[in-house]
Amino acid sequence: MTKIIFATTNKGKLREFQEILPEGKYSFFTMEDIGFTEEIEEDGTTFLENAAIKAKAVAKFASSSETFREAIVLADDSGLEIDYYDKKPGVMSHRWLGERTYPQAMQDVMDDMKDVPEEKRGARFVCAMAAVLPGGEVLSVQESVEGRVGYEMKGENGFGYDPFFYVPEYGCTTAEMTPSQKNEISHRGKALRSMCRKLEEQVK
Ligand code: IMP
Repeated sequence: MTKIIFATTNKGKLREFQEILPEGKYSFFTMEDIGFTEEIEEDGTTFLENAAIKAKAVAKFASSSETFREAIVLADDSGLEIDYYDKKPGVMSHRWLGERTYPQAMQDVMDDMKDVPEEKRGARFVCAMAAVLPGGEVLSVQESVEGRVGYEMKGENGFGYDPFFYVPEYGCTTAEMTPSQKNEISHRGKALRSMCRKLEEQVK
């Protein structure tokens, strides 16, 4: 079985990953499982750069371990782009909170955009994913899901900015979707499926 190490500590993401990848072919490990505790500085300016920075840092560590030398290391970097703010917060999506909680940050945006009409409320979640193969080759993909900044927060599922991310085709926010519905349309779901296809070509 091919070992995959997820370079994330985000439990929400980990759950989403595991729901998508085919069982039985891969065995999954976290950074905790392999004893990786370093802080990785995500100083890239794009989602793709940051995903590669994370995957390479963990792959370097794994390559010196007898058990994980042959593992694939997968990392993602994702975030929210709001057209009204020239695609911010982007790679800064988490840091953008500052001292605020997610509900506070979303409320601030909705207050600021209260008079902004529907057609100017465009937003998307973007997910870049990088996989470092045992030989050092890096595979990468990037996908997104289009939506709008909603007028209110709705739903209890998901995490982060999901409660105000309204997807017109579905008439609800990503926090109102079940995990499997969200996986079908989400930036991360799409990126992971694209990455799976790439990995399938490599891992026979
Ligand atoms: P990172 O990929 O761990 O750097 O996370 C980026 C940040 O983007 C997260 O902490 C969330 O604020 C936001 N984000 C990324 N994906 C999602 C999502 O699926 N739902 C809600 N927020 C998200």
